[in-house]
Amino acid sequence: MATYARYLAHGEIAYGVVEGDAVHQLTAAPYEDHEVTDHTHGLSEVKLLAPVVPGKVVAIGLNYRSHIGDRTPPSVPEPFFKTTSSVIGPGDDIVIPKEAVEENVTMQPEAELALVIGKRAKRVSAADALDCILGFTCGNDVSARDWQANDLSWWRAKSSDTFTPLGPVIVSGLDPSSLHLVGRINGKVDQEQMTSDLLYGVPEIIAFVTRVLTLEPGDVVMTGTPGTPGNIHDGDVVEIEIDGIGTLKNAVRNED
Ligand code: MG
Repeated sequence: MATYARYLAHGEIAYGVVEGDAVHQLTAAPYEDHEVTDHTHGLSEVKLLAPVVPGKVVAIGLNYRSHIGDRTPPSVPEPFFKTTSSVIGPGDDIVIPKEAVEENVTMQPEAELALVIGKRAKRVSAADALDCILGFTCGNDVSARDWQANDLSWWRAKSSDTFTPLGPVIVSGLDPSSLHLVGRINGKVDQEQMTSDLLYGVPEIIAFVTRVLTLEPGDVVMTGTPGTPGNIHDGDVVEIEIDGIGTLKNAVRNED
């Protein structure tokens, strides 16, 4: 089990491995050939960034019965894409676009288990899928509901700038089938579920997605959200916590 971070220190961005209150700089991303250096910072001295810069973000829709409700559960996993330009890190603001504010669009967070690919994966069986994963992080699939319902595609509903918070760190060696996932708005529990309740678990998702597209090291897969999230507005604070990983915290504000 290892904990990886990406961070800004003294004007430079680096990857590191976290041990206790310290982060030891790596010579490259944790999914690349790398060595641990003796260049060390206190965790409180660095600004944590999104723990990965993904080449693509694949997200799974309708993957908890508590979220599906009266809708028909999909007969196979239901992937869609989020733009990499929508990724932000812990502590960054979720910015509601001006147009969404003006149109009074309903905005909701989606607490999700996210995984980071460690090894190139194409046509990987469910049995081998976990071997392709570097580790797990918290993800927020921020959603503009009216745009999601009314636009032909989800391009801005799910991928406006800042709509994909990830972090705070990546933890390897976790069992993705038994993690406790909690979403909070302003400190109040809003979503709560075990990942054992996923309709399609992580191995099945990887097997299904890699039939047709190669997942590369650093790519992110978000596994879906439980329940019915509450609405978020300017000034709110969203936290997503997964046991063994930590808490991803982002404030919400309207675009200036
Ligand atoms: Mg989602």
